[in-house]
Amino acid sequence: MIVVLRHGCSKAEVQHVEKHLKELGFEPHTLWGVERTVIAAIGDDRVTTKEHLESVPGVERVMPILAPYKLASRELIPRTSEMPLGGPGPEVKPVANLVKIGGKKIAVIAGPCSVEDRGMILETAAAVKAAGACALRAGAFKPRTSPYQFQGLAEEGLEYLAEAREQTGLPIVTEVLTPADVPLVAKYADCLQVGTRNMQNFLLLRACGEIDRPILLKRGMSATIDEYLLAAEYILSGGNKKVLLCERGIRTFEQYVRNTFALAAIPALQEKTHLPVLADPSHGTGVRRFVAPMAKASVACGADGLLIEVHPDPEKAKTDGQQTLDFKEFAKLMQDMKAIAAAVDRSI
Ligand code: PEP
Ligand code: MN
Repeated sequence: MIVVLRHGCSKAEVQHVEKHLKELGFEPHTLWGVERTVIAAIGDDRVTTKEHLESVPGVERVMPILAPYKLASRELIPRTSEMPLGGPGPEVKPVANLVKIGGKKIAVIAGPCSVEDRGMILETAAAVKAAGACALRAGAFKPRTSPYQFQGLAEEGLEYLAEAREQTGLPIVTEVLTPADVPLVAKYADCLQVGTRNMQNFLLLRACGEIDRPILLKRGMSATIDEYLLAAEYILSGGNKKVLLCERGIRTFEQYVRNTFALAAIPALQEKTHLPVLADPSHGTGVRRFVAPMAKASVACGADGLLIEVHPDPEKAKTDGQQTLDFKEFAKLMQDMKAIAAAVDRSI
């Protein structure tokens, strides 16, 4: 349930309410606000009554959270939460610009599917920055369908990404595949990506909940919206409040695209959660010529950010070349999206 505290409630009163909730068996998650402080009390609502809690000093009102996901719910925070892409910061070469996602500016996170070598990632970082991207994304650990396909450069790839951040100031987003790798990836990355195949890897979600670094959680390719938000809840309930969502297409019977890009999931998620919602039209379609139209459509329907695969020579990319834009195509798309963003009162 949501415990709304009185305006101007003192810290001691907040702590008293937290203690009281703990004694009743709740886990309190306090959200300090300028106007109001609220406590999300996670637990069995049947152990107490609304009337009882409303009589505790400092409490103004108590409301149930009806959704099964509590901390992710828009009932708890009735607006989109702005999330910093970074901080307290990776240990290796931590010089990134502070980027926020979930505000008026649409965040474009771009880069190759995989870090292939030092030269290509530095070149791509400079190109996407020049075109207006706000962060660089590339995989050093790749979740591949076949064990014989390129699996990524692992820590060597992370080192190149850190160098790209140092050169460009762009924060780094990169995927983590296992709970054991979370500290290693967090050492280099500003934001950790959990991919579609791991959306319900609960041990990985819990490990991501224990760090203080934003997590970009992609929608599972067969996950319903509720399952997706419950996956986000695993991270939030562990104490990490920085979660970004990303619609990346779902598996359907359709064959003309790699995945069916669920555009309506963007406004649907925004109705249900305060977490920012990004769109990935590259994986969402799997087809290069559909990436720009779906990126524009995502901006038009209110996405808070985009993930776009960009490579110096997509034909030669080791992974996902068929859905990847070259530098020129990406720069043109960035320009084309400006007018669409302005039409929906956003900027890019
Ligand atoms: C990727 O971002 O390159 C990737 C593997 O994405 P997804 O998990 O959406 O397939
Ligand atoms: Mn990819």
